[in-house]
Amino acid sequence: MTANIVHWADGAEFAGTSELWAEVTNPATGKVSGRVALAGERDAQYVIGSAVKAQEAWADTSLARRTQVLFAFRELLNARRAELAAIITAEHGKVLSDATGEIARGLEVVEFACGISHLLKGGHTEGASTGVDVHSKRVPLGVVGIISPFNFPAMVPMWFFPIAIAAGNAVVVKPSEKDPSAAVWLAALWKEAGLPDGVFNVLQGDKVAVDALLTSPDVAAISFVGSTPIAEYVYETASRHGKRVQALGGAKNHMVVLPDADLDLAADAAVSAGYGSAGERCMAISVLVAVDSIADDLVARVAERTRTLLTGDGGAGATADHDREADMGPVVTRAHRDRIASLIGSGEQAGAKLVIDGRDVQARGGSDGFWVGPTLFDNVTPDMEIYREEIFGPVLSVVRVPSYDEAVKLINDNAYGNGTAVFTNDGGAARRFEKDVQVGMIGINVPVPVPVAYYSFGGWKRSLFGDTHAHGTEGVHFFTRGKVVTSRWIDPANRPAGGLDLGFP
Ligand code: NAD
Repeated sequence: MTANIVHWADGAEFAGTSELWAEVTNPATGKVSGRVALAGERDAQYVIGSAVKAQEAWADTSLARRTQVLFAFRELLNARRAELAAIITAEHGKVLSDATGEIARGLEVVEFACGISHLLKGGHTEGASTGVDVHSKRVPLGVVGIISPFNFPAMVPMWFFPIAIAAGNAVVVKPSEKDPSAAVWLAALWKEAGLPDGVFNVLQGDKVAVDALLTSPDVAAISFVGSTPIAEYVYETASRHGKRVQALGGAKNHMVVLPDADLDLAADAAVSAGYGSAGERCMAISVLVAVDSIADDLVARVAERTRTLLTGDGGAGATADHDREADMGPVVTRAHRDRIASLIGSGEQAGAKLVIDGRDVQARGGSDGFWVGPTLFDNVTPDMEIYREEIFGPVLSVVRVPSYDEAVKLINDNAYGNGTAVFTNDGGAARRFEKDVQVGMIGINVPVPVPVAYYSFGGWKRSLFGDTHAHGTEGVHFFTRGKVVTSRWIDPANRPAGGLDLGFP
């Protein structure tokens, strides 16, 4: 039995009229678990229309009522997070504890958005001129599109929709066709929380669905997260159609280990950040930059830890034979597994030292699962394909550098600028690093420096197109636009003289 995964509009599932479907697989078994509707143009217009119909009334709903719905959504999601985690693991493959962690980070944004009344407060100036007052306010944009990648089917949409909805917009979420069920589950949860029908919608599909959002005159803004080429395309296309756009792209995150660092803690961090979620995180560490004097020692410690990792079915949990959950699951599709395997081959051919080869992993899971075990390369150089490409798999590349300056140059010469980290016990070096690197999110002895929800998430260079980062106050700004009102109320006791004056006021 496979499930049909369809759109959500007007507060209910909507099958659409397109006859096109894509298979959804469980990456741990390689078996097809469902099929997802791929919207045609008419389906897209129907779902966008559902948002258009609902938006004005939602924007006119009092802040008190909107906030109540957000709190109810927060409570429901908190109570039922295990259900959602199981859905994520079954379609994405990440282990259950990781799926639960993704939901927790999404919940943070919901909690931030519960404070929308404070965040939308405007300014007021009495007596800017004689008898003249000025006030400012932030108003919703209308209908906004959220296009998300496969690697965080719940958290990434939650970077955006809680704030967009709290601010009075209606949203259309276009999930990845690889793991489309989480969005529909969230839609049903919103309904249960009391959100009026049509404020939260899901449009399933591929490029056709994305293009419909990018070009629709009814969509005011686009929040996109995915690979860099698509982010660039989305930014250019949606901007050309007059929309506000934030398009977050790919990454190649470097973690620098300086000679004075605690090497055990640095090795723990590199392994956790390199292989967590099978490396399918935009904030994963994919390049470990070791200063020569400690490189041998660090690589040995990283290799020792990497060999202890258990790759397996993320949904299996502990069993009689295995007393613990797998550390990492499969990668998302067979094609992705094959691409990663081919990149490992390319690294070997280019002369990098393959310390641990994940292609022959003995995974705890189905023989048809999409397995790649943790892979460790040493002596990687910037000209190699495995350095230049975003592999987006469990492959950690060690690049050796002679000095701090070379480490920073490596980072700044890289096309991406999403996240980076430095491991050191030298406060001065850390402070200098923070200033020197051209990267949006920086960790100091923190390998995955994802900002908390009340700060904003976003990279630099080819990791972000547009100028606004996700969530935090930048998120509130993105989903609202400003109005400034200058007013003069006539006081009969102090009536202005009047008369014509054509000068600039
Ligand atoms: P992707 O670019 O293939 O897909 C992202 C979305 O775009 C999906 O909804 C997909 O259906 C759609 N899409 C794909 N091809 C398209 C096309 N030709 N035209 C229009 N739309 C298209 O990305 P993915 O493989 O799902 O996700 C992994 C990528 O996302 C990695 O590069 C990762 O670094 C990036 N990512 C970045 C961040 C960040 O915050 N910067 C966060 C998570 C993921």
